[in-house]
Amino acid sequence: MARNTESVCRQCRRENQKLFLKGDRCYTDKCGIERRGYPPGQHGQGRIKFSEYGLQLREKQKIKRIYGLLESQFRNLFEKAERMKGVTGSNLLSMLERRLDNVAYRSGFANSRSEARQLVRHGHFAVNGRKVNIPSYLVAKGDVVEIRERSKSIARIGGALEAVKRREIPQWLELDAANMKSKVRDLPSRDDITAPMQERLVVELYSK
Ligand code: SF4
Repeated sequence: MARNTESVCRQCRRENQKLFLKGDRCYTDKCGIERRGYPPGQHGQGRIKFSEYGLQLREKQKIKRIYGLLESQFRNLFEKAERMKGVTGSNLLSMLERRLDNVAYRSGFANSRSEARQLVRHGHFAVNGRKVNIPSYLVAKGDVVEIRERSKSIARIGGALEAVKRREIPQWLELDAANMKSKVRDLPSRDDITAPMQERLVVELYSK
């Protein structure tokens, strides 16, 4: 399966902001942005001025990187968001948040979205009691995402739940840490997504 092989810290430095792609390390002073807070490459420390197109492109790349999607996956989701009622940009972010790998990460079952994706692929999750191993599966209101019985003893899931105190569980999810379950209270709205993202720029880019 195709994947982005660029170093994750380099991806953050390229976007000039912490994207929290590496789990625990992101909260320490070993973070690449803390150590070298300028874009990678020969001209990284120079003054970079973006054109309008450049700004739109960077914003799209940033959102893609936060959720760990490749261009084709991201574009497909955008086209789906366009066909839905409502504001395309908000629809896009809502669908990104509803992906099972993201729900697993946001609930605290993994330290990063990439770890969550791997755990989903390896079949450690169930939705409404049925095994689901598709990271792009979109959860619906009322769904219960849980760690399967046989996977509850996995140390890294327990460790992630311990470390989750550092992060905020979003309002639209209700975590039952003792039973390793998370209920989708409501679908995420734009206001629930607090990470700095300007989805408007993505819509402008793809509308050209
Ligand atoms: Fe980004 Fe985390 Fe690396 Fe820091 S440690 S640069 S937040 S991936």
